[in-house]
Amino acid sequence: MGAKPLNRPIVAAAATGGGYLEVASDGGVFAFGGAPYDGSMGGKPLHRPIIGAAAVAGGYYLLGSDGGVFTFGTAPFYGTAPGPPLAGTTIVLDPGHDGGNGADPAYINQPIWNGVEEEACDTVGAETAGGYPENLFNWNVAQYLRADLVAQGARVILTRDSNTGVGPCVNERAAIGNEAEADAAVSIHADGGPVSGRGFAVLTPVADGINNAVVPASDQLGTALRDAFVARTGMPTSTYDGVDGLQPRSDLGGLNLTTVPKVLIECANMANATDASLLVQPAWQQQAAAAIAAGLSSYLGG
Ligand code: ZN
Repeated sequence: MGAKPLNRPIVAAAATGGGYLEVASDGGVFAFGGAPYDGSMGGKPLHRPIIGAAAVAGGYYLLGSDGGVFTFGTAPFYGTAPGPPLAGTTIVLDPGHDGGNGADPAYINQPIWNGVEEEACDTVGAETAGGYPENLFNWNVAQYLRADLVAQGARVILTRDSNTGVGPCVNERAAIGNEAEADAAVSIHADGGPVSGRGFAVLTPVADGINNAVVPASDQLGTALRDAFVARTGMPTSTYDGVDGLQPRSDLGGLNLTTVPKVLIECANMANATDASLLVQPAWQQQAAAAIAAGLSSYLGG
């Protein structure tokens, strides 16, 4: 494919029928010489990259990084080897805020463009009445979640590497997911809502021009997370935010600027005594992480 524009790298080739096939990581197939073209995965949703190809009389195979096999022409299907369910996926986890944000108001309050309007770089986040900070909850859940996802074969990238730093700003957090071309990105938060209000909510993007292409996928991701969180954590859907645990938001840089499927989950209401009694417990934090992992796995088809 020399000199022709390609969106994805060529990752495999196979000789067949007096010619050859070149195969791109997104499943695109290019036939040369007498090689027959029997179709491709181009334009079809693939959560795992194609990493190999093989030709037989009458057709060919494309091999996914998770061991999935796609057959074309009359190539017979004989089964696949079981692989880690999330192999080949890239997931960005964005633990909201940072433990050092309160120490650097000039940095945190600087205005950034959030795709629609100006917004503060970040905030210090919420806390429980007992003083347990949201940044620590978010960080702990992200650590448990990263371990869960890595064990399932995913490549996981966090938007910050400690809970003692400052930032990054919300626009940079979105850029990290975009640059990684993540299959899914999740911002992890806990809310500072009304004292009498309970529960969790998944915040989803609203089309703003920048994120248009990923709004439908983000909605699917949000629904999968909502269902898993209901099933696995005992936390009710929010009594004060959204409908059935889902709330589209047009005012958040992290969702406005995303070009990959992304949602933000407010795992609980830190201001509510019942929610707070749960969310400070490591066991519940692990449960929340397992629920988000299950939602991601469901969305990614793992
Ligand atoms: Zn937050």
